[in-house]
Amino acid sequence: MFKEIYSPIQHIKFASLNQLFVKRDDLIDPYISGNKWRKLKYILAKAKAGNKTHLVTFGGAYSNHLVATAAAASRSGLKATAFVRGEEVKNEMLLLCSLFGMKLMFTDRESYRNKPELFKQHFADDPEAYFIDEGGASLEATIGCAEIINELTETYDHIFCAAGTGTTAAGLLGGIQQNVLHTKLHIIPVLKGGSFISDEIAKYTPLSNHIELHLDYHFGGYAKTTPELIDFIKAFTSRTGLLLDPVYTAKMFFAIDDLQQKQVIGSNERILAIHTGGLMGLFGMKDKF
Ligand SMILES: *Cc1c(COP(=O)(O)O)cnc(C)c1O
Repeated sequence: MFKEIYSPIQHIKFASLNQLFVKRDDLIDPYISGNKWRKLKYILAKAKAGNKTHLVTFGGAYSNHLVATAAAASRSGLKATAFVRGEEVKNEMLLLCSLFGMKLMFTDRESYRNKPELFKQHFADDPEAYFIDEGGASLEATIGCAEIINELTETYDHIFCAAGTGTTAAGLLGGIQQNVLHTKLHIIPVLKGGSFISDEIAKYTPLSNHIELHLDYHFGGYAKTTPELIDFIKAFTSRTGLLLDPVYTAKMFFAIDDLQQKQVIGSNERILAIHTGGLMGLFGMKDKF
């Protein structure tokens, strides 16, 4: 299932951005979306190599990672269990997880914090259980994300990505270094206080002056929005035909547009935005539109 891949690069016109290209990882798969596909590719390979048949992972009730893991497990003939943060709820994403056969274990926020402990408590006796961290954060995930860079056939002055854990950014930076590109990697943390992202990246790959963190595009924090961001999504999607999710990719495209308006980036510099997918994040915010 991780063999064929469809992730074209599309040139789009928006505002005065003349050289904006989008790596359409959102098209890879409707459920194993974008960077979650990239991450799970080598995570599942490692699980299978270790004869693990049961994926155990963690996420919030609107986690793209949970849906992706559930879909990937069902297609690979593996079992899946998720610890879901907070009290029991129903929503579109958890419905998909259940349909794909994932077992959901709602977990209070206090216990949720210690994931290795939860895994130990419930799965210490299951030699086939495989621990996958929240969001898929791992070395294997960075190797999968580095392949985004290997696929590029043209050069860009700037590459942009949104960051939650920073694993995707770490993989992209690794890919840029391995391919000795002169591209700058711009990272948009979607959480408040996103400077921790550089420590996360440094766990996997040496930091370099290739990266720049933009800390002011979190719009209040993780999964927070403002009317300005919602208006941006509406304008962007109606003019480009590209859907954005309010949690990650909308903040990244907003940043690109804003940095160009402030002339930090010239309107003729070549920009590649990584569309990391996650469109189902719209469902968690339908009331905001
Ligand atoms: C999970 C996710 C991210 C965050 O990726 P990290 O590797 O955790 O930084 C970015 N974009 C989308 C659409 C996601 O679903």
